[in-house]
Amino acid sequence: MEIRSVGVVGAGQMGNGIAHVMALAGYDVLLTDVSQENLTRALELIDRNLERQVTRERITAEAKRAAMERIKTTLKLSDLGPCDLIIEAATERETVKQAIFEDLLPHLKPETILTSNTSSISITRLASRTDRPEKFMGFHFMNPVPVMQLVELIRGIATDEATFNACLQVVNKLGKTAASAEDFPAFIVNRILMPMINEAVYTLYEGVGSVISIDESMKLGANHPMGPLELADFIGLDTCLAIMNVLHDGLADTKYRPCPLLVKYVEAGWLGRKTERGFYDYRGESPVPTR
Ligand code: NAD
Repeated sequence: MEIRSVGVVGAGQMGNGIAHVMALAGYDVLLTDVSQENLTRALELIDRNLERQVTRERITAEAKRAAMERIKTTLKLSDLGPCDLIIEAATERETVKQAIFEDLLPHLKPETILTSNTSSISITRLASRTDRPEKFMGFHFMNPVPVMQLVELIRGIATDEATFNACLQVVNKLGKTAASAEDFPAFIVNRILMPMINEAVYTLYEGVGSVISIDESMKLGANHPMGPLELADFIGLDTCLAIMNVLHDGLADTKYRPCPLLVKYVEAGWLGRKTERGFYDYRGESPVPTR
């Protein structure tokens, strides 16, 4: 089946980036969220990010205009029924994702492929609660979506070859590179990245270094483009904690226990850039460490 239309569920950091790259590659995009404010903000952000690409001469003004025209928004999840491919990019909580798929199912065409952008939750388990586990897989973009080259494609235990190949074609059409990952907690990138971020939070928690010294150490000492705490703020501390919990629960190894300081930041609602406060405070001209 050729994929022409894509339904994106969740218009947060990832959902808006996914809508952006899909529309630019020529797909019709229908973006949904529970909040009209988030949909409006997502469209403004996509417009701004596409404009930046025009200014840098990466795309033409005409390509931008055509992409913006291909993106429609709706508050009604059922409107996504006629889409060929669904990419769920809502909050990283299994109950939220399950409820979305349950609500969507009665409205879908039989051939529609269902995917989740989850960073860590079991694809096999999400798939098993739908009527089409063979047409279900993980479609994991990296943040920021328009910039990052990789997409992890994750097969659930029942995912069929036709579904995998259809998703691989989409990744190719986006001009991105796919990495195939097995369905184990957090897949490849976050299995390796998140314990490193969590260890950076422990390093802060135990007073081994300050926010600045930890980030500088990893940038200048390990050649990372961003420090781990800066990166955690960028990803979202709630998402980082959710991934650590999935690793801890799924692999039952104490080396994955989330740092209590990470838990405390999340409990405070200091989730990083998206709430303007995390390991840094972003409310002023330049970020200021919060510890
Ligand atoms: P986010 O908090 O920025 O956005 C989540 C959006 O989902 C919000 O706009 C929220 O209103 C919406 N939402 C919540 N419940 C919904 C529902 N029932 N129906 C429709 N929309 C709903 O989060 P994010 O960073 O964009 O993450 C989204 C997904 O992408 C998560 O599964 C996350 O693990 C994954 N992911 C995140 C990153 C990252 O760096 N942030 C990277 C790769 C994958």
